[in-house]
Amino acid sequence: MTLPELLNRLELEVNPESLPLLEQLVNELLRWNSRRNLTAITDRDEVLEKHLVDSLTLLPFARQARRLLDIGSGAGFPALPLKIVCPELAVVSVDAVGKKIDFQRHIVRALGLQGFTALHGRVEQLQEQAEYRAGFDLVTARALCGLADLLELAEPFLQSGGRLVAMKGPEGHQEFAALRERLQRDGWTALLHSLKLPLSGAERCLVELRR
Ligand code: SAH
Repeated sequence: MTLPELLNRLELEVNPESLPLLEQLVNELLRWNSRRNLTAITDRDEVLEKHLVDSLTLLPFARQARRLLDIGSGAGFPALPLKIVCPELAVVSVDAVGKKIDFQRHIVRALGLQGFTALHGRVEQLQEQAEYRAGFDLVTARALCGLADLLELAEPFLQSGGRLVAMKGPEGHQEFAALRERLQRDGWTALLHSLKLPLSGAERCLVELRR
């Protein structure tokens, strides 16, 4: 299945100009992965589905946002696909592992992306920096940590009314249920979005929190 077909299954649309750039991202990831072991996923179809399509399930959120922080971004997921499809979105990504950030910077250069900053370090170090504190209307994290810990990490970066979207597997439901009372007490509006990836049928859960 082609990328547009996969996206179509989830009712996601991207502008045609972004398709060659998304292809280039896949090719570069496969090329770097063979040498530097950036992600566990190495099969082309799997990269398309689990990295590209999965990242782009956040498009409805990204399209409403102006400034995105992606925490524990790894090789740039979901940050890079979202930036490619939403060129106006200002993006900051952070990861503690240097070679992953090197890859992101390589993609930024190779694709000529403007307004994408990949930072090497721990996200805790950014929390007190004026440039980042309360500076984002969208904060994302995929496969980083449990929801309770993520809330602690992400909250300082959110503008008032901003959204945190945690990308989870089926465990998202339990993590959300365990946190429900605290979220209510602290004044968060929470929404759960369930979806299935089109090739593998793998279950995904997007936990959307807003305050
Ligand atoms: N989001 C990517 C990577 C997930 S793996 C994806 O879904 O493909 C989790 C990543 O978080 C790792 O690359 C790890 O280096 C990074 N990480 C974990 N704790 C972190 C922290 N406190 N600050 C920054 N990065 C962190």
